[in-house]
Amino acid sequence: MQRTALITGASRGIGRAIALHLARDGFDIWANYATGREAAQSLCHEIEALGRKAKALGFSVRDGKAVRAALEPLIEQDGVPHVIVSNAGVTKDGLMAMMSDEEWSSVIETNLTGFFHVTRVCLREMLRKRAGRIIAISSLSGEAGNAGQVNYAASKAGLIGACKALAKEVAKRSITVNVVAPGFIETDMVKDLPKDELARQVPLQRFGKAEEVAAAVSFLASDSAGYITGHVLSVNGGMYM
Ligand code: NAP
Repeated sequence: MQRTALITGASRGIGRAIALHLARDGFDIWANYATGREAAQSLCHEIEALGRKAKALGFSVRDGKAVRAALEPLIEQDGVPHVIVSNAGVTKDGLMAMMSDEEWSSVIETNLTGFFHVTRVCLREMLRKRAGRIIAISSLSGEAGNAGQVNYAASKAGLIGACKALAKEVAKRSITVNVVAPGFIETDMVKDLPKDELARQVPLQRFGKAEEVAAAVSFLASDSAGYITGHVLSVNGGMYM
């Protein structure tokens, strides 16, 4: 049976690379975006050129109602995706002493509550099917902490805890739940960072590529990874071991 993968935040960066990689693996793609409608549509054309079906789905993962309105009818009509990749994420960096309520809550709501909204909508049908792969994109910051990212590190560490708990909840139904934790990856998110200086701190002496994160997701989404659950796979050039 043809399988589908849903990727949140697929319009750019790591999410886009994951969507293309999973399409090459043979999945049809539901590509979520928040603001990048044209980018998501152009991604869908690229996926269709690979011979797969693709849908661009516009909603903010922060908005539980919008998530349900977009996904429930699609699940009803086409069935639940086999793979869900919670990739949508934002940073609002700053020292905690100066952090506003909005800087705290918007990051938690997008990165952590967004995972809750999207996964919950799909979960009942996945449980019924007794199959599925749930993958969340965390971060080095969630594993090791990083000054200036108390909000972001909390959201990304929260994803790790949530995924380990969920892995235990759904294992009996053959659903796996895993986390990929990237280090510095070349995307818009890090474009203002001092790249040369930071790359010298990475044991592998360079930033990673979005495609290198996508390859890890592809493995965890595959049938070969069926006995791996509750795992955090770091893709960080050796920054945190
Ligand atoms: P990016 O280039 O800034 O792209 C972020 C993506 O998230 C965009 O597609 C954006 O959609 C989407 N997004 C943001 N808010 C959203 C919302 N409320 N609802 C739905 N989509 C939303 O970032 P990236 O570097 O590819 O990061 C992808 C993931 O990897 C994030 O979770 C990030 O925390 C994590 N990560 C990145 C790095 C890194 O070094 N780059 C390292 C560790 C972890 P629109 O453009 O459509 O608005």
